[in-house]
Amino acid sequence: MIIDAHTHLFGSKDWWPQWVWDAVSSIQAARSGKPVEFMARHRDESFDSTGNIAIANMDRAGVDKAVVCVVDLGLAVPGEDTKISIEEINRLTCEIVKKHPDRLYFSVGVDPRRRNALEILEMGVKELGAKTVKLYPATGWSPSDRIAYPLYERCADWGVPVNFHTGPVFGPMKSKFTHPLLLDELASDFPDLGIYCTHCGHGSYMEMLAIARARTNIFCDMAAWLAWFYSGEGLEFYRTWRYITNMLGAGRMLFASDQTGPKFTPELKDEYVDWVTAVTQIPDWVRDAGITFSQEELEGYFSKNAIRLLKLD
Ligand SMILES: [Zn+2]
Repeated sequence: MIIDAHTHLFGSKDWWPQWVWDAVSSIQAARSGKPVEFMARHRDESFDSTGNIAIANMDRAGVDKAVVCVVDLGLAVPGEDTKISIEEINRLTCEIVKKHPDRLYFSVGVDPRRRNALEILEMGVKELGAKTVKLYPATGWSPSDRIAYPLYERCADWGVPVNFHTGPVFGPMKSKFTHPLLLDELASDFPDLGIYCTHCGHGSYMEMLAIARARTNIFCDMAAWLAWFYSGEGLEFYRTWRYITNMLGAGRMLFASDQTGPKFTPELKDEYVDWVTAVTQIPDWVRDAGITFSQEELEGYFSKNAIRLLKLD
């Protein structure tokens, strides 16, 4: 059983402000060497108002279930909120998830600075059945800012974990808000709240581990770490995966992709399939280098830890 604990899905362009798509297209164009227009066209083909593209991708990669996270980026740039409300985006995402009840789970997205943030949270968890709450501080707030504390209080009461992006983000959002150190205060103030840190801080993973070692309510995934393979550093990836597992403990690692539909690399590789293959079919040369994972660790990584943290059925 493979559970992808952190993915995204977009019914249309209106689910994010235009500046986000422009930023994503130009980053992907820079990475792939293709024109920005090509990336934008490709992106338009991956909007998925039924969830069928997501399911087809999961089938192709051999993933059984996935958590679909709504990301509220509407307040990042003043005056440039999404064309449709975040309440509506959450509702529409939940509708798509419900079309595939045996494959998809829902995670509600909300910016704690919205005046009705608590209502959105409550609707997401109590009415729409969200398994986590996706929070994106890069839009301009610190995870330990008191403005978010009422949300954490509710989540801790309900036993619903919060999910943070950690590590660098594209502009005009600010990476200073996604540094792992900013999670320390909240993790200390809410010891019973499950805090799920996606990407394990990416380049800041040592700081992420330094904090997480002392805060046992922190969980991590290594989504979007595939660049190591493509840059010819495959062995370094496995070594780091092993190291993170040792430092964090195998029970606090989740498998996730951050999948948002097909992405392009310079060689036009299929990143989703490559990522799943890299972790499910560990090459012999990794074992030959003395890097191994026990059956129990892998079962935790691929499903059991997510089932426990997110209370999945
Ligand atoms: Zn993500």
